[in-house]
Amino acid sequence: MIKKIIFVFLIITLTVFVLSSCGQKAHDIDAAIASLSTDELAHDVKILSSDEYEGRFPASPGEEKTIAFLKEEFEKVGLKPGNGDSYFQEVPLVEITAEPQSNLVITGGKKPLEFAYEDDFVGITLRVQEKVTVTDSEMVFVGYGIIAPEYQWNDYEGIDVKGKTVVMLVNDPGFATEDPELFNGRAMTYYGRWTYKYEEAARQGAACAVIIHETAPAAYGWGVVRNGWTGPNFSLVTEDGNASRCAVESWITLETTQAIFETAGKNYDELKKSAEKPGFKAVPLGLKANLTMENKIRNALSKNVIGLLPGSTQADEFIIYTAHWDHFGKNPNLEGDQIFNGALDNATGTAALIELAEAFQQLGSPPQRSILFLAVTAEEQGLLGSDYYATNPIYPLTKTVAVINMDALNIYGRMKDIRIVGYGQSELDDYVKAYAEEVGRVVLPNPTPERGSFFRSDHFPFAKQGVPALSAGSGIQHLEKGEEWGLAQTEKYIREKYHKPSDEYDPNWDLTGMLDDLNMYFSIGYRLSMESTIPNWKEGSEFKLKRDADMQNR
Ligand SMILES: [Zn+2]
Repeated sequence: MIKKIIFVFLIITLTVFVLSSCGQKAHDIDAAIASLSTDELAHDVKILSSDEYEGRFPASPGEEKTIAFLKEEFEKVGLKPGNGDSYFQEVPLVEITAEPQSNLVITGGKKPLEFAYEDDFVGITLRVQEKVTVTDSEMVFVGYGIIAPEYQWNDYEGIDVKGKTVVMLVNDPGFATEDPELFNGRAMTYYGRWTYKYEEAARQGAACAVIIHETAPAAYGWGVVRNGWTGPNFSLVTEDGNASRCAVESWITLETTQAIFETAGKNYDELKKSAEKPGFKAVPLGLKANLTMENKIRNALSKNVIGLLPGSTQADEFIIYTAHWDHFGKNPNLEGDQIFNGALDNATGTAALIELAEAFQQLGSPPQRSILFLAVTAEEQGLLGSDYYATNPIYPLTKTVAVINMDALNIYGRMKDIRIVGYGQSELDDYVKAYAEEVGRVVLPNPTPERGSFFRSDHFPFAKQGVPALSAGSGIQHLEKGEEWGLAQTEKYIREKYHKPSDEYDPNWDLTGMLDDLNMYFSIGYRLSMESTIPNWKEGSEFKLKRDADMQNR
């Protein structure tokens, strides 16, 4: 009963929020919001994360089932095909499965060292080549491997690493020192992200880029790295066959690192400390790396799924809801459960897309602006589906008003706090705040900005292209069980289930908090769809310059 009263209260306050910007009939909005249902969410999550969907790996039989389901659901709720007369956007991928033909062999130290694939190191190549070899490649410790002009930081200053093997720390000096004056303090900047480190190493001409794994600065354990960097890896197809990438992109464990530094006669902890300070100079290790990998190469076609709700009066302007449908598929080498069901990550967000589409259809008349429901592929492979859409948009990005991304929603019950990932970046924050005020929630920054979440889901490729993109969801302040409990649930999930076969649907999930968040996604998207405003990035955001330039030339 108490729940019902809260729910009615929510509907009334939401109506006030969305009505403040438009003339839609209140009962239409109420009907839309009332149509959001935990039962339907659970139903769809259960299907998408069932073993039958085989972990929803791109370009697999699991994909076929997933995208057929989504198309059917989009049709059922009355969405139009989002890409001409098709619900699909083809995303051309190349799948490379690297098979190391040798251990990682390090020579030149006190004694030669050999490291085993998976247990001691992982490595992939994105080069579309049948064989890549790293032979007697000189190893250099390049600290954090960062060149950041705005922070007057250059770890490659005065050293030529062409053809060499660069060994580097994960995250950035701001995290290590917790000095708010260094980079963005504890919050991870893009420079702390592994994608950046490999990109920079490639720009420097390194043959092999090696990141040292430590759990705290990486924000996940070795198991996550091992799962992510072994087996098939995808990238978008580029003209040069990714020849400009490093031959090998690798991670090594902390134990491997310590053995390497020891044989080089160096103290890892001391060098790590020195890399945190401005003016750090890269240190040649006097060692050579050797590794040969053969590649199985497969061109693969995956698909984004797109449904369109055409707007009434500003149909050429768009609000996009995104969620990635893909996950990790299955691993036949695992003992026991081999299927990565990806129930929380991200059957929840995918199910939410369907629920939201249905809610918008409950409105008596369509909103003024068009709404796109975009289920993207290959997020787990490096945000590839969203990157493809953002660089090959079906509708102009300058006409794309906002992106609202949903990835791994709340299964722990109702939370007081709404957390914005990348808090302070865009004016979309103000929509969240206005909404929160109406419903009595509070808006706070993401509690763990050091994990670099802003660079880790599908809003980021849109941000990179200048489109204001929001990633917000439930925080940790559980209405009944409190904040400590809420935080503990998140930590437990990351430890036990994140990117593991155990991320499965559980009937004991409490979806009432997810429903609150869907109310928020609906209300904010609806409000944006009834306005003529064009939100922007805030002053100081690294994405604002691009947006301003694009909007000026549109
Ligand atoms: Zn995800």
